[in-house]
This record gives sequence, C-alpha cells and structure tokens, in this order.
Amino acid sequence: HSGKNPSRILMDKLHSIKVGDVKSVPIVVTEKCSVYDAAVTMFIEDVGTLIVVREGGFLEGVLSRKDLLKITLGGHDIYKLPVGVIMTRMPNVVTVETEESVWSAAKKLITHEVDALPVVRVSDDNSGVEVVGRLSKTNITRLFVELGES
Ligand code: ADP
Repeated sequence: HSGKNPSRILMDKLHSIKVGDVKSVPIVVTEKCSVYDAAVTMFIEDVGTLIVVREGGFLEGVLSRKDLLKITLGGHDIYKLPVGVIMTRMPNVVTVETEESVWSAAKKLITHEVDALPVVRVSDDNSGVEVVGRLSKTNITRLFVELGES
C-alpha cells in the first residue's frame, strides 16, 4: 500500500530533529568552585545541572542538585569544599553531540536516569571534549509541547 502510517511520520520527525535545534546555553563552573557558590549559581541561573569545565571550555564533570544536597547534609565546610571532589567526573559523564537526534538524547536521559546532558564537540586534535551546550528534560518537554501545537 502507499503512504506512510501516522506513527511512521511521527518517528521520522523525532529522528530528524537534532540536539542542535533544541539545546540550551551551558551553565558552567570550574572544579575549584565551592559547593556554596555552585548552589548560588544554580539558583541565579535557574538550572538543576551545572557543567564543570577546565580552561578552554573542556568537559571535566557534571554536578546535580542531589550532589549538592548530599554534601550539604554531611556537615562539610561548603564555603571551602570544591565541587571537584563531589561531581560526577569524566569519563563517567554521558554526553550528546549537536548532530545527534533529540530522540537519541531523550533515550540517553531515560537509560542513564539523569536530568541533563552536556552537548559536546570532540576537538580536532583529541585534546578533550569541548562543551557547546546543555540538553535537559525541559528541552524535550518543550519540544513535545511544540509538536503537539503544530
Ligand atoms: P538529581 O540530582 O536531581 O537526581 P540527576 O538525576 O541528573 O539529578 O543526577 C543524578 C546523579 O547523576 C548525580 O550524581 C549527577 O552527578 C549524575 N549525573 C547528572 N548528569 C549526568 C550525566 N549527563 N552523565 C553522568 N552522570 C550524570
């Protein structure tokens, strides 16, 4: 028979939209940033995940709300303690690239049970992965709403 069925059309659509089409600006700190300053940054920037970078914008780790909550309950000096000791560190960070489909990114969010993924570009000389964005569950939800409206 001719034509595509509706679920096939939806599937093609989800696979054709790229991470680069929906990503947000990355909110970054360095690993020397204190736990206190990281928490303040989360409030000011209104994000739930901070991306930890070194000079040049290269990915070092990620920091979530619960990482901060956990360390705050432990009675540490949060004004002195650097986020480098509590963050999830490379190579254990799940990332996406700009050209990946949003479907693939959503699958990673679900599979790895995380709220956000750094969007990265692997540098030409393999010296590291450069952070170029942030993709969160909010980006996926916003897209979902937009697809439902159009
Ligand atoms: P929450 O703190 O709200 O539960 P997440 O579910 O995103 O937020 O984080 C759960 C754990 O996974 C935290 O320890 C965090 O450091 C880690 N994490 C967050 N994002 C990533 C990621 N993209 N790759 C690997 N680990 C991550």
